[in-house]
Amino acid sequence: LDITEKVQIELIRREFSSNVSHELKTPLTIILGMAEMINSGIAKSEDIKDFSYNIIAESNRLIHLIDDIMMLSELDEGNRLKKYEEINIISLIEEIFESLSQSASKLSINMEIIKNEVSIYANFQLIYEMLFNILENAIKYNKPNGKVLVKVFKYKNKTKIHISDTGIGIPTDYLDRIFERFFRVDKSHSKKIGGTGLGLSIVKNIVEYHKGSIEVRSKEGIGSDFIIVLPNNLIS
Ligand code: ADP
Repeated sequence: LDITEKVQIELIRREFSSNVSHELKTPLTIILGMAEMINSGIAKSEDIKDFSYNIIAESNRLIHLIDDIMMLSELDEGNRLKKYEEINIISLIEEIFESLSQSASKLSINMEIIKNEVSIYANFQLIYEMLFNILENAIKYNKPNGKVLVKVFKYKNKTKIHISDTGIGIPTDYLDRIFERFFRVDKSHSKKIGGTGLGLSIVKNIVEYHKGSIEVRSKEGIGSDFIIVLPNNLIS
């Protein structure tokens, strides 16, 4: 590593720590404030249900955030057990569709997969996390009655996974920033619909862990396409 690279890494590390502290402190401050109001008796009895609901929601947000940070640091360390196995991508995607079906039906989103039996040799837990994050976004940032389409196919000695949505899209100016840690296009909107801003950086790390590549194409107001390419013969 040359000096400029070292300085850059240090800057990124500092920015990450300051973002983490901020992101952890916000929900904790809300939790503390509400718990204090209940505890001191200031909260009216009719407000207690709302307050406790917020305490639960913010606690869940914290847990999600901490899980994401732990996953990122594990990937950074690269010390995850390199357990590779044969994964049937189609059944894995169907399983993820199933667990996201409730959020999809809230927006009446149609999820479709072009079936084409493809299996890859990779780390199951990481590939699950990668596909879950992208598919969750494809629903979260979609429009009512929108569509999510997944195509998986073999291409030379690679596997290509194409996930497209008919959602709000990503402004061109931000396209190369969405994989940054904590980057969110619209912070207030993202806060409303939930999210840590870490999902896509985890996705990128997982793709790189498997020596693959990821590309995004998007048009604001029209939708987004995420294209992941994974090499087929990963050696454990
Ligand atoms: P978040 O937890 O906010 O969803 P991500 O890292 O998963 O964080 O995504 C970063 C940002 O990229 C999101 O906040 C959103 O602005 C944008 N984004 C990600 N996926 C999509 C998508 N399919 N359509 C539109 N915007 C998206």
